[in-house]
Amino acid sequence: MDASFDDPDYDYAASVAERAMRSMAEQRIPATPANFAVWFRYFAGSHDDLRNAIDLLIDHSRPFDVRTNQDLFETYVAPKGGAIVSETSERLHALMGAAKDFLATAIADNHSQMQAINEVADQGEAGVDPKALVAQLMNELSRAAARATRLEAGFAEKTRELDVIRASLSKSEERARTDTLTGLANRRALDEFLRKAQTTAEWGEPLSVLMLDIDHFKTFNDSFGHGVGDQVLRLMAKVLREKVREQDLSARYGGEELIAVLPDADLAACAEVAERIRHAIAECTITRRSTGEVLPHISVSIGVAQYRTGEAITDLIERCDRALYLAKNSGRNRVVTESELDGAGAAG
Ligand code: GH3
Ligand code: MG
Ligand code: MG
Repeated sequence: MDASFDDPDYDYAASVAERAMRSMAEQRIPATPANFAVWFRYFAGSHDDLRNAIDLLIDHSRPFDVRTNQDLFETYVAPKGGAIVSETSERLHALMGAAKDFLATAIADNHSQMQAINEVADQGEAGVDPKALVAQLMNELSRAAARATRLEAGFAEKTRELDVIRASLSKSEERARTDTLTGLANRRALDEFLRKAQTTAEWGEPLSVLMLDIDHFKTFNDSFGHGVGDQVLRLMAKVLREKVREQDLSARYGGEELIAVLPDADLAACAEVAERIRHAIAECTITRRSTGEVLPHISVSIGVAQYRTGEAITDLIERCDRALYLAKNSGRNRVVTESELDGAGAAG
């Protein structure tokens, strides 16, 4: 499928484009080049990660708002690290070229040195004055030493360059996995983490997730502006990051929904963490940076679910989402676990 995406035939591209445009119109997604790039890829079927992310959003009737569309584009179409990666790859190529030249020079030097030594040996057999031979040998040796020193200096410089490249690569890798607004892991990093965690969980270790959604955030944005809303979102992210362990992953799931994945934690342990997060957020005093004005308290609702061996990760997320939905419906500012789902008859 990838080949057909990179070099599609006319009819195929036209039909994919048409489906993309139709679907965007149905969901009232503005037909910008960036959104089109996302939806073209979705219907071209060549990007599994993107497809899963969009299917999940559709399954959960999530709106494709500006933020979500931007997230999808930045995560799956044009990760921020792209430019750095191509620049780094160019530098790597140059460096490999230089390394090849170094090797060629070293081999040639070695050859000429061997040749010079052989010549001295031949002259020795021919009865030339030993003093002259020693002088010739010394001369040859000091030339070899000078060549080796030059090579070593060149190599040291290239090694430093390699370190710079390595650092810039890991920085761009990091950037491609990070949500720009909150600094949490983005969807791509979350998907990867979940996939790995699932493998371990199949061996019987518990694995739980909690999903957090800010209560009445739309009203908050409407009253205080999107900028202050962003500030709040960053604060929620900070609390989430601080309340989970280093081995856990906290990520931005969607617009104002955050998620934490807790390997090695069962439902009860995860619910405890969720409760601590909920409490900490409810206790936060938020002041407007520009004016120092104290803003109304923010609360969050949290759903918690535990992985069941053999199930798909999407099932786990779906249960967690239903628990979150129940938390919203039963008054907000609370934690609901999947066990309450069945009890409340809310399953299905
Ligand atoms: P509920 O308690 O049911 O969750 O109510 P709500 O208003 O939070 O829920 P709703 O889904 O109606 O609205 C979510 C709001 O979150 C709307 C959107 O503007 C806001 N939002 C989503 N992403 C961002 C963001 O990145 N920054 C800001 N400031 N707001 C965001
Ligand atoms: Mg929401
Ligand atoms: Mg909300």
